[in-house]
Amino acid sequence: MTAVAQETFDSLSPATDEVVGTYPVHSPEQVRDAVARARGAAAWWASLGFGGRADRLRKWAGIVTRRMDELCAVVQQETGKPRGDAQLEVVLAIEHIAWAARHAPKVLGRKRRSAGLLLSNHTASVEYVPLGVIGVIGPWNYPVYTPLGSITYALAAGNAVVFKPSEYTPGVGKWLADTFAEVVPEQPVFQLVTGFGRTGAALVSAGVDKIAFTGSTATGKKIMAAAAETLTPVVIEAGGKDALLVDSDADVDAAADAAVWGAFSNSGQTCIGVERVYVHEDVYDRFVGKVVELTRDVEPGKQYGPITMPAQLDVIRRHIADALARGGRALTGGADAVGERYVRPTVLVDVPEDSEAVTEETFGPTVTIAKVRSMDEAVEKANATRYGLGSTVFSRHNGTKIAAKLKSGMTSINAPFSFAGIGSLPFGGVGDSGFGRIHGPEGLREFARPKAVARQRFSVPIQLTTFTRGE
Ligand code: NAD
Repeated sequence: MTAVAQETFDSLSPATDEVVGTYPVHSPEQVRDAVARARGAAAWWASLGFGGRADRLRKWAGIVTRRMDELCAVVQQETGKPRGDAQLEVVLAIEHIAWAARHAPKVLGRKRRSAGLLLSNHTASVEYVPLGVIGVIGPWNYPVYTPLGSITYALAAGNAVVFKPSEYTPGVGKWLADTFAEVVPEQPVFQLVTGFGRTGAALVSAGVDKIAFTGSTATGKKIMAAAAETLTPVVIEAGGKDALLVDSDADVDAAADAAVWGAFSNSGQTCIGVERVYVHEDVYDRFVGKVVELTRDVEPGKQYGPITMPAQLDVIRRHIADALARGGRALTGGADAVGERYVRPTVLVDVPEDSEAVTEETFGPTVTIAKVRSMDEAVEKANATRYGLGSTVFSRHNGTKIAAKLKSGMTSINAPFSFAGIGSLPFGGVGDSGFGRIHGPEGLREFARPKAVARQRFSVPIQLTTFTRGE
């Protein structure tokens, strides 16, 4: 963005409240201006073809790799997460840049199709043409990996991007846009607009060809309603309340390890974090014992950072209090787990299924564990949610069968849910977790329009359109 914004806002460290950067609040006019400039850049970027774009994307991946420490420092400043977590998300993002650059020609290139009996004298093909300008709106919890899951696929498909990062992580957004401009200096192919929800709303109404949104379900609904005014298509990657299921024949230690990592890493501020666990009664005591044992080693400030968004502290406190008031018990953490910035890992049992800790996204380091009599009961309870992003099942013999019954966009069997960084697999949810897919071939096609072409090879005496001859 070159236009000068009138207002600015500060980016604060959630660990210290120190100001770590000051950024413009871009107005609706400036957002429209960015989209207009992106339109010109989109035509030039598309004209580079798959090879030219892949070359630039690979150079960008090279910069992100070489300067990973610099990027991780900005991520840490703005989110408070430990260095290892920052590195993990940057590595996941690099995988997506590389995958999208490599596979775009195969996935989106022209493909021959059968022309059928009617057009048997034709050759037919379908190709995927870029949409034009994509507006990407991102969250703060994984400020590199999450937006790049859309941005790199949109760019590889031949689109220009206008990116509105979260107001909590504008510095990360700026780092990404600035380094992209180093490898694509000719045109504003990837622009940044910063500010609050109003700037995001302006982007939705600015005449972009698609919005790729990642954030809360509540904001996703507002974006979809606004986008309906201009029939702008949207991809919505929203919240989750993922369940982990443990069968009687499961590797209990591995399941407990996956539950602890899934529930507490990144302070539980993960859309695919494990927030609910359903365990077969035969292994329940052993599983709970192992989870509690492992949780003793989890220290806020060491394995995970502070809660990035201060308002979330109240939500976490409310969910824990509600669970305890309704008969739940905290085996670790509990009523006083929520501090001024950090939350101690909280394992809750005997929590009624209709309490907020079970029905709403907590987005903090808490997890509920419930005993079930059968895996059918586990599946029924896991599916009794308005969300449906990821799920995990531990079962030696029935993993695939149980996974097939789970209402979620993605399922991990006998391993921690960790395939967010796999380029080839589509990522997305059902229900209030959103719709559309990022990553993989599906993610590339999300940012392209299929165009069908049929070409006559030779003329035949059969006349299909006869009305001009009055017959
Ligand atoms: P949020 O919805 O508060 O904000 C997300 C983005 O939307 C921000 O950039 C914000 O400025 C912008 N925004 C706010 N109001 C807007 C409006 N009316 N119009 C347009 N844009 C607007 O979410 P958050 O707190 O930043 O992120 C946390 C949420 O994101 C959690 O619910 C989490 O589960 C979800 N999330 C989902 C995925 C996924 O892939 N499904 C990944 C990461 C995070």
